[in-house]
Order: sequence, then C-alpha cells, then structure tokens
Amino acid sequence: MPLRQTRRPPATLGERFAVLDPATGEAFDEAPDQHPDELDAVVDRAHEAWRSWRADPAARTAALLAAADAVEAAGADLAPLLTREQGKPLAESYAEIARTAARLRYFAEPAPGPRPITDGRPVRSEIRWRPLGPVAAIVPWNFPLQLASAKFAPALAAGNTVVLKPSPFTPLATRLLASVVSTALPQDVLTIVTGREPLGARLASHPGIRHVTFTGSVPTGRAVARGAAASLARVTLELGGNDAAILLEDVEVERIADRLFWAAFRNCGQVCMAVKRVYAPARLYSQVVEALAQRAKTVAVGPGLDPRSRLGPLNNAPQLARVERCTAGALADGARAASGGHRLDRPGYFFAPTILADVPPDSPVVAEEQFGPVLPVLPYRSLDEAVERANDTGFGLGGSVWGTDLDRAEAVADRLECGTAWINHHAELSLAQPFAGAKESGVGVAGGPWGLYGNLRPFVVHRPDEA
Ligand code: NAD
Repeated sequence: MPLRQTRRPPATLGERFAVLDPATGEAFDEAPDQHPDELDAVVDRAHEAWRSWRADPAARTAALLAAADAVEAAGADLAPLLTREQGKPLAESYAEIARTAARLRYFAEPAPGPRPITDGRPVRSEIRWRPLGPVAAIVPWNFPLQLASAKFAPALAAGNTVVLKPSPFTPLATRLLASVVSTALPQDVLTIVTGREPLGARLASHPGIRHVTFTGSVPTGRAVARGAAASLARVTLELGGNDAAILLEDVEVERIADRLFWAAFRNCGQVCMAVKRVYAPARLYSQVVEALAQRAKTVAVGPGLDPRSRLGPLNNAPQLARVERCTAGALADGARAASGGHRLDRPGYFFAPTILADVPPDSPVVAEEQFGPVLPVLPYRSLDEAVERANDTGFGLGGSVWGTDLDRAEAVADRLECGTAWINHHAELSLAQPFAGAKESGVGVAGGPWGLYGNLRPFVVHRPDEA
C-alpha cells in the first residue's frame, strides 16, 4: 500500500520552509529559509562580538555554566520538539538534552594557561593559547542538539564566537536551544542560521570564518573541505562510519544480545557509531541471527511521542529511501530477512527492524553506511578473516569485539583500524576522550582537551633570559 509521505525536500513557503513530523510525513511547523547573502552581516557581527568574548576567560566559564543550567531548565520544552522533528523516543530526547548540558559544564573549565617551553636554551619561550575567531558549526539531523553542543561548547570555551547551522530536517529544537543558551551569552556570540543549500556551502567558504567544524556525511565533508580551502580556514570533519562488531568463539550470545541489538538500533540505527555489520563465528551464526531477529521482531516501534515506543521512524524520506534501497539490494543479492525487510504499512517514515542473514560481503548494506534499522550478520571461519573484513572499508570510526576472555578480546580490538574500539560494548563515549575517526571518517580531533585545542592556536612569545 502506498504511504502518505513525500520524498521531496521540505517545500519553500516564501522565506520559510516546512518542517515535517517523521512519524506522519506531514508538515507541522516551519523555519526561516535564510538567504546565503545574509551571512555577511551575521559573520561581521560574530567578529565584532569576538573582541570582548575572547578577552575574559572567567566570564566565559560563568556563562557556560549558566547556559548548562538554562538548557536543563528548558528540557520539558526542548524534548517534545526534538522528538517531533527528529522522530526519536522522548526518553532519548531527554538523554540528548542531558548530554548537551553536561558538555557545556565539561568545557566551562578555564581554558589552558601559558605553558613554558623548556629545552635547555638560555631563552624564555612560552606558549599562550589564542582563539581563532568566528567558527562555523554545521551539523546533521540525527543528534541535532548533542552534536551542536559538541561544536559550540568547546569553540565558545576557547574564546571564539560561533555561527551554527543545523540540518534543514531538524532546525526547530536547535533554534530553541540556541535561544536558551544565548540567554547566558553576550549578543552575537552564538548565532543560528537556518535554511536550505547553498546556505551551508556559503557558510563553510565564508572569508570571515576561521574554523569550520562539520559533522555529516563523507561526500559533504569533502565539499566543506573544498569550500574552506578558499580562505584556508581550519577544518574539523566528523564523518560517517561503517562500524563492525566481531563476536569471538567464547561469546555468550544471550548475555550480550540486548546490548548488541541496541548498539545497532538505537535512534533507529541513525548513529554514526552504530554497529553496522556483525561478524559471527560460523559455529554460532544461526544462534546470533535468531537472538537478534527475535529482538527485532518484538521491539515496540511507533511515534517517539508515544511512551511505549522504543524505536521511532527514520528522520526523513530520502533516508527511508536509502535504507529501502540497501535492503532491497541485499535481498536481490540472495540475502534472507530473518526479521523485517520492508517499510511499515503506516504513514510516516517507519521501516521494520531488520536482521539480514546470508548477505554477500560486497552487498551495499555491508559495503556502505545504511544509517537505519537494518543489520547484516555475516559468518566467518577464522579470526584473521574477520579482522580483515572488519577493516576492509574506507571508513574508520569505531569497532567492537565481543567475548568472555577480555584479554583475548582486547588483543583483537587492538587490530581494528578505527578511532575507538570497545570490548563487549559499542559507542559508549566519555566527554573527556578524543573523538577522531581513522581513514575517511574524519579529519582533526574533537572531544576532551583535544576538542578545546582544536579551537585554539598556539602563540609563542620568545625572549632571551637577559637584555
Ligand atoms: P549531510 O552531510 O547530508 O549534512 C550534514 C550537514 O551539512 C547538514 O546541516 C546539511 O544541511 C549541511 N550541508 C549539506 N550540503 C552542504 C554543503 N555543500 N556544504 C556545507 N554544508 C552542507 O549529512 P546528514 O545526512 O545530515 O547526516 C548523516 C551523516 O552524518 C552520516 O554519514 C553520519 O554517519 C554522519 N554523522 C557523523 C557523526 C560523527 O561524529 N562522525 C555524527 C553524526 C552523524
């Protein structure tokens, strides 16, 4: 039965565009469709605001702490709006807001002070960290608030000002977040712009921007890097992933099945660091497929605002089409759907939670990033083969190894070519850790002190010991 939904991007309504509820496929609100020419004035104001914002680290610490409190206080307004436009269950929206506030608190620590360079020479050299200037922050639709704060919290803490551009699929909760955070900041220190392309492209290449910090897909990341090359602005790119989970011979399948399932299906699989491929030993293959399929068949799928829902819809029609294409391709290649394999027969962008067995290794659902509630499970015969296949991708975001002998699992994890590897877990991230993809999954380092230094430049003062 045809679904009541559109595959077109949001329609223009004069100088506004429609925002759709992915649980219905219907428009429920609209957002400003700003013209790229508006960016000149926005960036000029961000530059002006930078003069005083950069000068007072103590005021920045106080402002970021106040912003964290304001975000928490606004949780009851932010969470339903985030769920409405993004699709995720309400509890996950609250978790995203808590993470956003926690990140503001984490980066509220005073910025690093001067550091002497000691190399035995009779000079006094000192590194003093300096902010860069206006930063452009461009983020996707899967975790709009969490990812926006991952950009603006360290950039602001370092003494930069920020121009933030959310995805046109999720502009509303980010607009509200920016207005809440801005109650604690001087004017023009954080500015949000919303609109459809080429707004992001023009922002990334704007001559007044000194750092472009971007999260999104690999192809858009390349375009952003090309754009920023015009002004030689610094770029930080957090891009896609195709994380593998390797199950070892000694894994206790029933013990890990829930955790493994949610590592793949949280946020409807729309997580850069979701488990996107599972490699299971041939001896345990059927058991692993059945354990995951049983969970996929019984998980409660529905609108995020319904408290019974554990999985919501996909966020948008193009993403639904992509997941459908990957799945249909695998089935045409001879794969078997142990669960799901199709859209749900209801309005909105719902896809049945899908476990695919007997998938050819070069099928798009294995080779590409599906970014949806579809998980291929592949058998392996030797551990070397499993590691080789896990690493046989242009991506390198994360990976995990699951088993009972933790030392052995860690030795296998050490062989994964990625930024973070977990044992018996996946995508558990500390605010204090570096976040950096290997290969095409990223450029630069976010998270922890590295995230702060990514928004600073070293300025060295060098003087002799005596006149
Ligand atoms: P996307 O690349 O299509 O869009 C990301 C952002 O870039 C959006 O705000 C979009 O409007 C903007 N944009 C589009 N074209 C642009 C251009 N030419 N110049 C500048 N900006 C432009 O990604 P998406 O579909 O919104 O998000 C899904 C992707 O994001 C997946 O690949 C996922 O893995 C990745 N992602 C990565 C991380 C990470 O931390 N590594 C986290 C979340 C999502």
